[in-house]
Amino acid sequence: MGEFDLIARYFKRPARRAALGIGDDCALLQPAPGTQLAISCDMLVQGRHFFADVNPHSLGHKALAVNLSDLAACGAKPLAFTLALALPEANEPWLAAFANGLFELADAHDCELIGGDTTAGPLNICITVFGEVPVVNGQSLALLRSGARAGDDLYVSGTLGDARLALNVQLGKLSVPAPVLLAARARLERPTPRVALGLALRGLASAAIDLSDGLMGDLGHILECSQVGATVQVDQLVQCIGSYPGPGPAENQVGIDFSMAQWRTLALAGGDDYELLFAASPHHRAAVALAAQTSQTPVHRIGQIDASPGLRLLHAQGQLLPNQYASFDHFA
Ligand code: ADP
Ligand code: MG
Repeated sequence: MGEFDLIARYFKRPARRAALGIGDDCALLQPAPGTQLAISCDMLVQGRHFFADVNPHSLGHKALAVNLSDLAACGAKPLAFTLALALPEANEPWLAAFANGLFELADAHDCELIGGDTTAGPLNICITVFGEVPVVNGQSLALLRSGARAGDDLYVSGTLGDARLALNVQLGKLSVPAPVLLAARARLERPTPRVALGLALRGLASAAIDLSDGLMGDLGHILECSQVGATVQVDQLVQCIGSYPGPGPAENQVGIDFSMAQWRTLALAGGDDYELLFAASPHHRAAVALAAQTSQTPVHRIGQIDASPGLRLLHAQGQLLPNQYASFDHFA
């Protein structure tokens, strides 16, 4: 099977929204009047972001999910994406499963594949997504990292730590019972981009980011861009526990032998969760709760934005924890 047969068989579909889809030198995308394009690009590299034996259906899902997560963090509505693919070989069952995983998520978000590039090489997947953000009275409704203000509440969606839990098990650093691993692996391999929540937070969140590298590091980006500090109530993070059931009797029930401190490290420094972290004025508490409800996405308040710079981790009893939770950095 040649390059063009491969594209035609697995990736080419009739254009729907795009003025021109796959098959020419460029695709043509017409932004709706009164909107801006939000554009983001994410690459997945074998050996870095996934193992060679990863399920191709999950890989297709994840490659798009991590990109949709960036649109979600900006409050952008997904429109279209391009796919640059380096493949070691034209393995048809692999391609069929990859394309199915990719298009299932694409269709769920009405996000259209409009072009790409295909080459032989070590397995590498690069997707660029295009989304739409309204501009009202000359002002973009995009959610940025830079708008957090002192006094804002700090929230996180869904659960944290599972993706890193699954990774640590795969790396042989940890062992957990099968049902816990199953749930955690689903989070690692098939993350849920919080698109509906991002849209519902337009006009409410003062700043937002998606959690790809770990809560501490990604919160640091909001603080830097917004020139503020923050206090995270570590005890509130217990609400965001994923498949790990927490300390106490439940710990023994599922046979996980790690401590609250170890779990906290997963939640604070583990990456790959693709949840949204955002700030919003306390005046918007009811509206944020409604946004969570309408988007059917759990949201938890975990702290607040402070005027004084720096990131503080505070226990309910008031004592500060040392912040030793380095987040992921490809070159560190
Ligand atoms: P060019 O050489 O002009 O860049 P290509 O021959 O690489 O064009 O690609 C032909 C068409 O197929 C283009 O419309 C391109 O966007 C599309 N395409 C190539 N690879 C992919 C892919 N993996 N997924 C979707 N579309 C693709
Ligand atoms: Mg090309």
